[in-house]
Amino acid sequence: MLEAALAAMFGLLIGSFLNVCIYRLPRDLSVVRPRSYCPECEKPIAWFDNIPLLSFLLLKGRCRHCGKPIPARYPIVEVLTAILFFAFVAKLGLSLAAFKFCLFSALLVGMVFADLEERILPDEFTLGGLVVGLALSWVIPVTDVPTEFIFRVMGVRFEGHLLSLAESVFGAALPTGFLWLTGELFQRIRHKEGLGFGDVKMIAMVGAFLGLTGSLRTLILGSLVGSVVGVAYILLTKKDHKSYELPFGSFLGAAAIVVALLEQGVFAF
Ligand SMILES: [Zn+2]
Repeated sequence: MLEAALAAMFGLLIGSFLNVCIYRLPRDLSVVRPRSYCPECEKPIAWFDNIPLLSFLLLKGRCRHCGKPIPARYPIVEVLTAILFFAFVAKLGLSLAAFKFCLFSALLVGMVFADLEERILPDEFTLGGLVVGLALSWVIPVTDVPTEFIFRVMGVRFEGHLLSLAESVFGAALPTGFLWLTGELFQRIRHKEGLGFGDVKMIAMVGAFLGLTGSLRTLILGSLVGSVVGVAYILLTKKDHKSYELPFGSFLGAAAIVVALLEQGVFAF
C-alpha cells in the first residue's frame, strides 16, 4: 500500500503537468516555458502557490494576485490522475505493467479534458501515445486472443516480442481503419464532418496499448455513452444539434480508462 500511496503522490504531480498540457498544447504554446502563470492576470505563479491540490485548497480556488477563480479542472485532473495511479499500482505492484497503465491513463486524462475544453486532441497525446504504446508492447505483452486466432487463420506466425508488437500494431490498425471508414461514409452521405481525425488517431493509440479487444470495447462503450449523453445534453440545454460538436474524444478517453481498469481486474478483489 505504501507503493500505491507514493504512486498517488506522483500522480498528483503528473496531473499538475497534464493541466499545463491541457491549457497549452491546443494553443500551440510550449509546455516548459514560460513558468506557470495565471491566464487571467498573467502574473507568474510562485512555487508555493503551485503545489498540486494543496495550493488550490489553501488559496480557496482563487488566484493570489487577481482573485479570479481557478478552474475546477485543475484539482479534478490532479486527483483523478492520483486515483488512477493508486489503482494500477495497488493492483499490479511496482511493475512495468503498472508503469504502462499509469502512462496510458495519464495520456487519456489529458485527452479527455483537452477535448472537453478545446475540442482538440493534441498530436502529442495521440500520435506520441501511439508510438509509446507500440514501443511498450515489445516489453509488456499485449496478449489478445482474437488477434492470435486471426493470425493463425491467416497463417502468419509470430513469436515472443514480435508477436506482442504485431498484436499492438493490429489492435491499432483495425479499429482505426473502421473508424476512418465510418467517418468517410458519414461525410459522403451527410456532407459534413462527423468525426475529427483526432478521434481516429486516438483510437489507434488506445489499440496500441490495449490490443484489438480493448480498443473495440472502448469504441463501443465510448460511442454508446457518448450518444446517450450527447442527445440528453442537446435536449436538456436546447442547443442546436446541427452546430453542437460532441467531444467524442472525451467519451473515448473515459471509456478506455474504464476498459483498462476492468481488463486489469482493478475492481476485482
Ligand atoms: Zn490571476
